[in-house]
Amino acid sequence: MAPNPGGTTRARRPRGEGQWALGYREPLNANERSKKDDPPLNVRERIENTYSRQGFDSIDPSDLRGRFRWYGLYTQRRPGIDGGRTATLEPEELEDRYFMMRVRIDGGALTTEQLALIGELSQTYARNTADITDRQNVQYHWIRIEDVPTIWARLEAAGLTTLEACGDSPRVILGSPVAGIAADEVLDATPAIEEIRRRYIGAPEFANLPRKFKTAISGLQDVVHEIHDVAFVGVEHPEHGPGLDLWVGGGLSTNPMLAVRLGAWVPLEEVPDVWAGVVGVFRDYGYRRLRSRARLKFLVKDWGPERFREVLETEYLGRPLIDGPAPEAPERPIDHVGVHRQRDGRYYVGAAPVAGRASGSMLTAVAKAAERAGSTRVRLTPQQKLIVLDVPESEVDKLRTELADAGLDTAPTPWRRGVMACTGIEFCKLAIVETKGRAERLVAELERRLADLNNDLDHPISVHLNGCPNSCARIQTADIGLKGQIVTDAEGKQVEGFQVHLGGGFGLDSGFGRKLRRHKVTATELPDYVERVVRNYVAQREHGERFAQ
Ligand code: SF4
Repeated sequence: MAPNPGGTTRARRPRGEGQWALGYREPLNANERSKKDDPPLNVRERIENTYSRQGFDSIDPSDLRGRFRWYGLYTQRRPGIDGGRTATLEPEELEDRYFMMRVRIDGGALTTEQLALIGELSQTYARNTADITDRQNVQYHWIRIEDVPTIWARLEAAGLTTLEACGDSPRVILGSPVAGIAADEVLDATPAIEEIRRRYIGAPEFANLPRKFKTAISGLQDVVHEIHDVAFVGVEHPEHGPGLDLWVGGGLSTNPMLAVRLGAWVPLEEVPDVWAGVVGVFRDYGYRRLRSRARLKFLVKDWGPERFREVLETEYLGRPLIDGPAPEAPERPIDHVGVHRQRDGRYYVGAAPVAGRASGSMLTAVAKAAERAGSTRVRLTPQQKLIVLDVPESEVDKLRTELADAGLDTAPTPWRRGVMACTGIEFCKLAIVETKGRAERLVAELERRLADLNNDLDHPISVHLNGCPNSCARIQTADIGLKGQIVTDAEGKQVEGFQVHLGGGFGLDSGFGRKLRRHKVTATELPDYVERVVRNYVAQREHGERFAQ
């Protein structure tokens, strides 16, 4: 009870978090107001019939900086604005008149025809940009509003979409890139991904969530499931056989949290219903007052797994879930790079572009090379890699040569393999530092300096670069995570640099890297710093000790 000025006491009214299920239907911030006033999916009609015809200046700001996201569109950063000014400029000063467009590729699954189309569209409309993101998407830049309807029509005719690639909606679903062919997967989760996509992506019931919603579904532990809002991970039940273990409430960004298990085993055919139940809990009980507390992880943290499971079962599924065991964590992260035998005796070949940097011409070349090798299937991975499936043994060497000619290494050095980077200052309006180009230069430098260690590392040491605190490149779960910020150099100047996080990981090493307050490096010092850390690790490790241990 809190005292009041009159000297009496009265109950403090709990401060609303904007949860719909508790009756807070009136929007408590501008984003919620915008979504309520005009459902975001409505913007498609305006893009097709007004904005693309009348040009950039005709776009309503609330569509431009809000609803466009539901179709995978953000304005990109105006070139030439340094990171020191990111926080001080108004949105219209920071943004360019071109768009980033994200093509959602659920499970990273593409036919070679689709990949060739993505490459062709990139060369025609996106100045040959086509980065592979760590969420198995492809990201174009330099898109003009005038070209958006044509690009959509071409993508959709080929079974591709940008629908809900961004926005407060169910984003791309991560899936194992080797689903259905891996010798060691518990099951092939592809049917669940396809069914969720068919039933729920673009459905009005889930198009206004409190915040973005990330899903991973895999029979193998190759989709970084610990950092998703909801994840289904393959596990063998002692009585019921193969199924999926349910996790909720993971996410990185500025308040990183690992997902928790609900202790429930879900048969493959029930995954879409259970997924919809979890999204329903989020939609109705998720916090809508503050954007910074709106991700599902905050609700899960406050409720705990028992209460979350109880609400899910009683209010959304109308039945109890089956208890199940935890899946065993793999000893090492799985990235599928290199040549691997499939269950059917053919091979898959995984290649490593540096930090996901690809191009339309590169993707077109991959599609052609894959077809010449007898394959019609390509996959993108959550590690920004690319895999060609179904290659007969006799074609493997030729394919590897052709991929190398396209700039894709299938036996990369540990550095080329272990480096990831987000979009950074080249295109992102939130960025403080450059990432992709820097990752490329860092890889070249480490390959030169650390060539003597290539055979000493049984697994690459992961080095992830973010352009700002928003962890798009998962810095907290890297061996060496680098968060872009402005730092002071030896001469007292403000320059681009990084806050270092050391020793994060997944699987057996699941956990966030330690943020060492004084560990800040300038961008110029970066190669020296990484070299020093790696050499110290190699010199001091006990037999078989992993970096994160
Ligand atoms: Fe942009 Fe920051 Fe995400 Fe990088 S981490 S893509 S700079 S928001």
